[in-house]
Amino acid sequence: LWKAVPEAPADPILGVAAAFRADPSPNKVNLGVGAYRTEHGKPYVLPVVARVHRELLDDGVDHEYLPMEGYAPFISAAERVILGDAAAALREGRVASVQALSGTGSLRVAFEFLKRFYRPRAGAGDAGSLPKVYVPSPTWSNHRQIVPDAGLGDAVLYRYFNAKTHGVDFSGMCADLRAAPPGSVVLFHGCAHNPTGADPTMEQWVQLLDICKSGSLLPLFDNAYQGFASGDLNRDAASVRLFADAGIDLIITQSFAKNMGLYGERVGCLSVVMSSPCSPEIRTRVLSQLKLVVRPMYSSPPALGAKIAARILGEPGLFAEWNTELQKMSSRIYAMRVALRDRLIANGAPGSWQHVVDQIGMFSFTGLTPQQVAYMVEKHHIYLTSNGRISIAGLNPSNINYVADAMKDAIEA
Ligand code: PMP
Repeated sequence: LWKAVPEAPADPILGVAAAFRADPSPNKVNLGVGAYRTEHGKPYVLPVVARVHRELLDDGVDHEYLPMEGYAPFISAAERVILGDAAAALREGRVASVQALSGTGSLRVAFEFLKRFYRPRAGAGDAGSLPKVYVPSPTWSNHRQIVPDAGLGDAVLYRYFNAKTHGVDFSGMCADLRAAPPGSVVLFHGCAHNPTGADPTMEQWVQLLDICKSGSLLPLFDNAYQGFASGDLNRDAASVRLFADAGIDLIITQSFAKNMGLYGERVGCLSVVMSSPCSPEIRTRVLSQLKLVVRPMYSSPPALGAKIAARILGEPGLFAEWNTELQKMSSRIYAMRVALRDRLIANGAPGSWQHVVDQIGMFSFTGLTPQQVAYMVEKHHIYLTSNGRISIAGLNPSNINYVADAMKDAIEA
């Protein structure tokens, strides 16, 4: 029956992890997947997460179904952590949110909802057409699969990165977004852009807000690294809050995979923030349709991780502890950036390496070419995605010189 099914290509990110697992070399290093590792290279369970997990078990947490929209205390806490406690959108009841399956699932539900209900050019006698969805070039590779899978056609790329400066190509980005048809959806990374680690400055976000307003574009902020990027949850939410406080329509997706280390528990949230003013009936109708996306897709989201996250987000003492953990993780990452740059300078690797320190978040976009990446894998058993992105979290004092020296070797080979 399935003879004609062709083998699917390996996922550009998850395929790296599979290749790493299959390599018997004792020297192998995994810089592929974006998951935090300790300085001993081990997965990390945040102590506050472990404690709350145990407390929930002691309190007799059950495994009943959550409602379609998810766990209410989690949803309201997730809204507050991204928008800020004082957000007008929350005070005015202009936010409709559902808990979803981490960042990926939140994006999938968001695009499904947009496909069903967002017809930007609809008007007198015109049923409107599906919106174009703009994503940065480059972007997290899964964005470019989620958008067409939701039936919105291929995502359109907007210029984002300047390989010469290793920074944001702001003029290219603005030109492409100004040329986008009115009503287009524009996906932004809230902070710590993946894979480049380069973010617009606050002044640039102000200009991007202006472009979205004047071009009637619908911003969608994907937040996978809030608090993880700078160690400061408010700072990492500044771009989203700037847009939300402008009272415009926007979509927000959140993942608690990295910032709480809840990767496999799939803890995320999708919020539709409606422009001001907005009647309560509109919010009720939007929420009802989000639930109708969820029900036939997976009925309801997973419960345990959301209960852990809700407790941490909702209790000031636990929240403070979590903040300290975030600072620790982001400081270790920063220290590894500095150490990598210093070793690359010390070993004479061709090129300038300050960008490794300037980029933020979990990754560095090293500038290694696909050929150099292949060489790193084959000769040195160091695994990274072919676009030259390395997960800084995979570096530690025991492997950093090995990695830096292999990079030099690959560049000079
Ligand atoms: N968006 C971006 C930009 C990401 O980097 C990631 C994780 N790599 C995600 C969304 C979603 O991840 P998850 O589904 O694990 O929350």
